[in-house]
Amino acid sequence: MLGVVVRRAAGSGTNPPAKLAGEGAGPTGVASGGGGRCDWPSVVAAATIGPCVRSERSPLLEVKGNLELKRPLVKAPSRLPLAGSRFKRGRDQMEDVLEPEKKRTRGLGTATKFATSHHRAPVIATVPQTQGHTAAPKVPKKTGPRCATAVATVLKTQKAGPAVPAQKPDTAAAPPKLGGKKPGKRPAWDLKGQLCDRNEELKFYRERTQTLDQENQQLRDQLREAQQQATALGAERKTLEGELARVRAQAEQGQQELGHLSARVLELEHPLGTQEGLVQELQKEQLGLQAERRELATRLEEQERRLQASEAALSGSQAEVASLRQEAAAQATLLAEREERLHGLEMERRRLHNQLQELKGNIRVFCRVRPVLPGEPTPPPGFLLFPSGPAGPSDPPTHLSLLRCDERRGTLSGVPAPPTRHDFSFDRVFPPGSGQDEVFEEIAMLVQSALDGYPVCIFAYGQTGSGKTFTMEGGPGGDPQVEGLIPRALRHLFSVAQELSGQGWTYSFVASYVEIYNETVRDLLATGTRKGQGGECEIRRAGPGSEELTVTNARYVPVSCEKEVETLLLLARQNRAVARTAQNERSSRSHSVFQLQISGEHAGRGLQCAAPLNLVDLAGSERLDPGLALGPGERERLRETQAINSSLSTLGLVIMALSNKESHVPYRNSKLTYLLQNSLGGSAKMLMFVNISPLEENVSESLNSLRFASKVNQCVIGTAQANRK
Ligand code: ADP
Ligand code: MG
Repeated sequence: MLGVVVRRAAGSGTNPPAKLAGEGAGPTGVASGGGGRCDWPSVVAAATIGPCVRSERSPLLEVKGNLELKRPLVKAPSRLPLAGSRFKRGRDQMEDVLEPEKKRTRGLGTATKFATSHHRAPVIATVPQTQGHTAAPKVPKKTGPRCATAVATVLKTQKAGPAVPAQKPDTAAAPPKLGGKKPGKRPAWDLKGQLCDRNEELKFYRERTQTLDQENQQLRDQLREAQQQATALGAERKTLEGELARVRAQAEQGQQELGHLSARVLELEHPLGTQEGLVQELQKEQLGLQAERRELATRLEEQERRLQASEAALSGSQAEVASLRQEAAAQATLLAEREERLHGLEMERRRLHNQLQELKGNIRVFCRVRPVLPGEPTPPPGFLLFPSGPAGPSDPPTHLSLLRCDERRGTLSGVPAPPTRHDFSFDRVFPPGSGQDEVFEEIAMLVQSALDGYPVCIFAYGQTGSGKTFTMEGGPGGDPQVEGLIPRALRHLFSVAQELSGQGWTYSFVASYVEIYNETVRDLLATGTRKGQGGECEIRRAGPGSEELTVTNARYVPVSCEKEVETLLLLARQNRAVARTAQNERSSRSHSVFQLQISGEHAGRGLQCAAPLNLVDLAGSERLDPGLALGPGERERLRETQAINSSLSTLGLVIMALSNKESHVPYRNSKLTYLLQNSLGGSAKMLMFVNISPLEENVSESLNSLRFASKVNQCVIGTAQANRK
């Protein structure tokens, strides 16, 4: 709170300084003089410049404040005077205003003491007397900022006018002190002296009033100037505010841009992160590739070293190759010579083989006795005998003896006749215990003759149930141990053909399988609708003037492996089984002919050979019992039997005619001999198995078979000629 202290003149001495209400002097702020005599109140008034004065800042201060506020924002140089200079000027002015007496006293020596004592009084006098207030503003003791405050206070007071209490004219200034001395109290009677004092006093006040008017005028000028400055500053302030607004707008715009840029930065940060990750991955990959490159470079060096070594080795090898080529050429010559020799040897082997076969006989007969089957009666001991050969038991048996008891002769004489021994000799005799492999071993060489170009015919002759089919096709169940001659022969042929392919021979095989029943030919390999029916076939010459025979409507199936042959045999068996349901046991009443056309070629030498291999399971050779009554079934059976006997007889006659080199060979007397005419006689080789039942009850049929086989065995067909072109 600003307060103005009103003091008495220093010369009064006795009166203590009074204080304003704010300093505890009293509610009025006016202190009375000591003793109550002096009506010279040095105290003018205590002007309370309340909160309103405080709240309204001086224009100068406000300008300064604005300057301070705006300075950092506006770079343009301010047109305001510098802060220090303003203050200084104000201070000087204040000094000029507030201390005129001081200056004057310098000039007016006589008034020195007075002026010194009352230099603050004129300030009080500046308050317009018209206002009529008793209180006067306290003159500040210090200069500087407080002086400025005083000026502001004065200005405010002038503006506010009525708010400032007026001062009484008689209390506005102290009267002058004559001669610088403390005026003594004039006696009451000294009216003249008192009048003189009053005149002096009046004169002082007039001068003082004049001075104050001048000062007042100066202050008004200053005020006007200050107002102009304030106006200018206000304009400047508006300008600056405009600038500030622009700057703020710019700042906002900048802020927005900053926001956009921040968002953009955030937006770009994600792809940047991705790119950075990618870059890191690429860097890793690059490192990996560099390592790989180094490794490859190392390997390349290694390879180059090896290449150099290899090139060195190659040059060495090339020399070696040259020598090896020479050696190879020599070897090729040698090989050709050896091939030539081998071929010569092969031809020689074939010739010798054929000679051997001829020595063995172009017609050979093997006798095979089947074992007694479970459930069959055991024959009496000695019923069948197999005497050893000249070399003893180690010799393969070739003889067979059969003991037969002639009951008729014994009955006539009344004494049982001794059994008759029938001895037979064949190329080979197989007792009941002989295995299929053992049998095939004996015919393997004969089968191979077919590969050499000689027609081969193998027959199985005997009564029904003597083991013909077992010998030719094999036993039931597909057991390899009981495989018959047909599968074994074909496997052997395929194997030998494979061996001969190394010598330049190429072989092909075509199979057919037919049966001849009652002088009709049927296809056992028929399939589809013809299966089982065995549509009739005819035997025809393959072409006009051709010696080759073929069966019409029959399937000729190329085969190259045993599996295919197995399939064909199975099909033939099925066809026979179907036929059997129609006509009982027809299989035993018909001839089955398995034919394999073999064709060989030596392309290098332009050689060819072709020959058939015939494996024939003949019909049962048994005869009808003449004592049996002939019913309709028996008549049919008789007709079958006559046909069979006729064909078997014809076979025998053909063999005999060939053996006797007769001009006419009755091939045409039966379908069987007609079909086999190219495989019989001439260069052909023939083997007949005579199958014998071991049972005593079959002794008659066994003897018939053995006699027929013995006749055949006595035949010798002329030197066979290989069917070569
Ligand atoms: P065929 O064809 O002459 O009428 P099979 O070959 O059908 O006679 O033989 C009659 C029976 O005797 C068949 O059950 C057969 O398995 C059997 N058999 C034939 N020969 C032998 C043999 N050597 N070993 C074992 N069993 C045989
Ligand atoms: Mg049979």
